[in-house]
Amino acid sequence: DDLAALLASRIRDVPDYPKPGVVFKDIAPLLDDAVAFAALVDHLAARAKALGATKVVGLEARGFILAAPAAYAAGAGFVPVRKEGKLPGPCFSQAYDLEYGSAVIEVQCDAFVPGERVLVVDDVLATGGTVEASLDLVRRAGAELAGVAVLMELGFLGGRERLQPHLGEAPLEAI
Ligand code: IMP
Repeated sequence: DDLAALLASRIRDVPDYPKPGVVFKDIAPLLDDAVAFAALVDHLAARAKALGATKVVGLEARGFILAAPAAYAAGAGFVPVRKEGKLPGPCFSQAYDLEYGSAVIEVQCDAFVPGERVLVVDDVLATGGTVEASLDLVRRAGAELAGVAVLMELGFLGGRERLQPHLGEAPLEAI
């Protein structure tokens, strides 16, 4: 559709970044385009409202850029999921596998009111490991998953299939 075409036209393929053989999806041309950025944020906000989400969760770091304005526009709160050691106070932690090694992400234990509905937002769904770990955090922190929205899905990496068992009734949207 029109939105998807607009957004796709503002995403730049960068070959061999961050290492040889990888084609990196660079969203900088989208973020610095006022029309495209507003259209994306408006879409995410409408999604949050339609799903009854009272919090929008952004995954460090590009997820923050999309989730925070969407939360504001939807009249919802914003919650960051961050790399290990960045958030003060008691946190839930979740390890997940990267291509080489592993990483840990965290959310503050008191981020959610028990049972409140959340929309999880990130820029790119690749293998799905990051979103999968964030869904575990959201559940452990007592929230209910309303949905997942990503700007872009790298379908050949199988993220959607990996997430399927964790989604329940919640939709996964790639805009
Ligand atoms: P996954 O855990 O393999 O699904 O990787 C997703 C995470 O890596 C997201 O937080 C993305 O921001 C980042 N990522 C992976 N590939 C790309 C890319 O091509 N462009 C921008 N971010 C990417």
